[in-house]
Amino acid sequence: MEATLGNNSPRRQVVRQLSLVFSGLLLLALALGLVSLYRIAQALDERERVQSHFHAEAALAQMHKNERSYLVAYAVWQAAYDHLARRVDRHWAYDEDNVGATLYSDDGYQGVFVLDDDGTHYAMLEGRLSEEGFDRHSGSSAQVLQQARQAVQQQQAASGYLLYNGQPALFAAAVIRPPSVPQPLPAAGAVLVFVRVMNPTMLNQLGQAAGLPGFAVIPASQLPTGKGHLPLGETGYALTWPIEQPGTELFHTVFMPLAFAWLIIAMVMALCARYALRASAGIDRSHRELAASKFALEASEARFKAVAEAASDWIWEADAQQHLTYLSPRFTELTGHTLERWLQRPISDLFDCETGQVETWLHGLAGSEATGSLRCQYHDRLEQRRECRIAARAIIAQKTCQGYRGTCTDITDEVAAHAHIQHLSLHDALTGLPNRNKLFRYLEEARHGDLALLMLDLDNFKPINDSLGHPAGDAVLVEVAHRLGQVTRDTDLVARLGGDEFVIVLSRPGKHDEVDRFCARLIETLKRPITFEQHKVQVGGSLGVVLSAEYPGPPGDLIRYADVALYSAKQAGKHTWRYFSAQLNTALLEKRELERELREGIPRGELRLHFQPRFKVDGVTLASAEALVRWQHPRLGLLRPDRFIALAEESDLIVQLGNWVIHEACTLARGWPLEVMVSVNMSPAQFSRSDVVRDVAEALRHTGLPAHRLELEITENVMLNDVEGALQTMNALKELGVRLNMDDFGTGYSSLGYLRTYPFDSIKIDKRFVQSLGTSNSDRSVVQAIINLGNAMGMTVTAEGVETAEQLALLSDDQCHEVQGYLLSRPVENRVLVRLMEPGEPEPGGMS
Ligand code: C2E
Ligand code: CA
Ligand code: CA
Repeated sequence: MEATLGNNSPRRQVVRQLSLVFSGLLLLALALGLVSLYRIAQALDERERVQSHFHAEAALAQMHKNERSYLVAYAVWQAAYDHLARRVDRHWAYDEDNVGATLYSDDGYQGVFVLDDDGTHYAMLEGRLSEEGFDRHSGSSAQVLQQARQAVQQQQAASGYLLYNGQPALFAAAVIRPPSVPQPLPAAGAVLVFVRVMNPTMLNQLGQAAGLPGFAVIPASQLPTGKGHLPLGETGYALTWPIEQPGTELFHTVFMPLAFAWLIIAMVMALCARYALRASAGIDRSHRELAASKFALEASEARFKAVAEAASDWIWEADAQQHLTYLSPRFTELTGHTLERWLQRPISDLFDCETGQVETWLHGLAGSEATGSLRCQYHDRLEQRRECRIAARAIIAQKTCQGYRGTCTDITDEVAAHAHIQHLSLHDALTGLPNRNKLFRYLEEARHGDLALLMLDLDNFKPINDSLGHPAGDAVLVEVAHRLGQVTRDTDLVARLGGDEFVIVLSRPGKHDEVDRFCARLIETLKRPITFEQHKVQVGGSLGVVLSAEYPGPPGDLIRYADVALYSAKQAGKHTWRYFSAQLNTALLEKRELERELREGIPRGELRLHFQPRFKVDGVTLASAEALVRWQHPRLGLLRPDRFIALAEESDLIVQLGNWVIHEACTLARGWPLEVMVSVNMSPAQFSRSDVVRDVAEALRHTGLPAHRLELEITENVMLNDVEGALQTMNALKELGVRLNMDDFGTGYSSLGYLRTYPFDSIKIDKRFVQSLGTSNSDRSVVQAIINLGNAMGMTVTAEGVETAEQLALLSDDQCHEVQGYLLSRPVENRVLVRLMEPGEPEPGGMS
């Protein structure tokens, strides 16, 4: 029958042979499938490894870059340079939080230090000020200093790894310097260091940036196999992360079913051809698995693509001939170019580089695994020039360079922002003129040229600012800047130093007379009224001039010279100019020195009081004693007031000096055996700079001297500045009960008018008139007129500077009330005065 016949039929044999052949072929196909699956799996793992390595490295590099640029914002900063570089100002740094606790609380830096070769000058540990040095926490200070100083040559910051309290940490360091870098760079300056420990939080963030979870830091000696790792500098630690092995996974899932299928086929081979169906089912399944493996591969690529798209940079790949083979989709988004336009073209067509050729640079990377970066430019689709930084690294397989892979970061905005900051740091925001930084830079560059430096100070600016407000002041400054621009040439420089101070630098200024003409023109220009809203205001200017041909020097010196000359121009009465000279400088230096010594000398008790008696016109009866201050200078001996009063009046020192005099005079007068008056000279500057009423009241209260025994000698100048205020003050002084004496009468302006309005008790005829008595008739009539006037107004009239008997006789004839002068007594020490007051003393006229 069919069935029995079928068992041994040739057809069955054919079937058996066929099935044998099929099984054999199937087996072969299976084995081949297995081998290629293994290959695919391996390639897949390798690709995953390379990619994860690339991402980890890129994330670390980005992190370094971020750390460096963040640090640079602090280190390359004028304020930091002023407050940290030379001497650390902790108040500025920590209390005002300029380099303070937020660096820890917000930015997470565990350590912030300022170091130099002498050690640590500022340390903040986890947001707290500390006295501990950097070396307490890390052994790498020498390395950090060295790297920061090397980096300063490229105007950059350094970053790297170090051990911080035994833990691996990332540091960034830079030499603290001003944005306008002086030449040469401060190679040995103080260095600002930020330290970030590589703790789990930080690693977690890094992992997120790289798209690789599971970053950890472990000792390099304990590296596990099958994990990605990158050494962390010389710290002995490495960064590790798990690498997915899609290939191996795939292989494991496919291998078992395949092996199973193989077994079945073997059984089919051994038993029966009808199992061939099942074998084919196994093959079906293996096909499905293969499809799965392909899917896994695609997934891995998709992940790469996702990273490439998410990154703000774009990714490129090129072959060994430097033709672009891959551009991530961000390329199109950022540049506007299509991929097709650039793929297969040389990378050097895309990028220009000012500092060298892209080809040679890439070529240089071919031999190693190092990553390089290069600043370049390219043109976007709209032909706009853009700045970028490309990072690249060779793809090495079997020790040969297969191509290059890298990223490209668009830094156009960064560069523009940098340029803007640069501009701000060199210009004055209000007027747009160059500022002090730019001026210094300019002077530095023009160092050996022939220039005139003019320092301008507006003469009437402060009152305008005070009375009309800051907007008016600003408008004036802007207008002045505009006018300065008009009178200068393009080759000159006009800078604003701040406030109402400007500097004009004339290049090739010519001779003195040319500079004179320029100054005159400038001052005329400034005198023209300026309209602000409905107000018309008038400023003027004083100029200090220095010619570099006569006094060459570094910028700071030139400015100082011009300042000295300016001071002298202002002394000369404003609206004028003066040239710097060495004599001016010496005089000024001596004056400053004397002022400093006086400031220190007053509290040290170097002031003395001498007293010059004043007599009734009989020349015998003592009426008062005038306190005249002296300075027992440690080097120059006993100084008369004309050497130092004017100096004290230029600063607040006059207040201190005046208070000392009045206290001392009252104290000594309290001890006199006779109840005569003490006369104290008051400077007009005391009236404008202090509350004299309060000070006088305080002196009387403190010393217990009755008010009627105190007389204040005031010159007319006190009324010059503030007529109303002076009147009020004098009335208040009168209410205290003290007497007021108008000193130096006849030398002032409208003496008579003042005399009527102000509550003076007496007047003192200036010694100039007294001394020409007997030689000049007109002076005698002046003296007589003053005496008559005093009599008419009920005031005591004193003549000072009486040196001869003849003068005394004339004054007596003219009925002057009181007299004072060398003829009767020179100023004497208190003890001499006291002796003079004691009964039975010889005639005072003999004293000297
Ligand atoms: P003054 O108030 O006019 O004082 C008179 C000056 O003339 C004193 O000079 C005195 O020594 C001098 N003198 C007095 N008799 C004669 C004379 O017969 N012939 C000549 N040629 N000179 C005579 P001194 O002590 O050098 O003081 C100079 C000025 O310094 C004073 O002028 C006064 O303006 C100021 N001064 C002195 N002591 C003080 C003070 O405590 N405070 C203030 N603010 N100024 C003072
Ligand atoms: Ca006097
Ligand atoms: Ca006088």
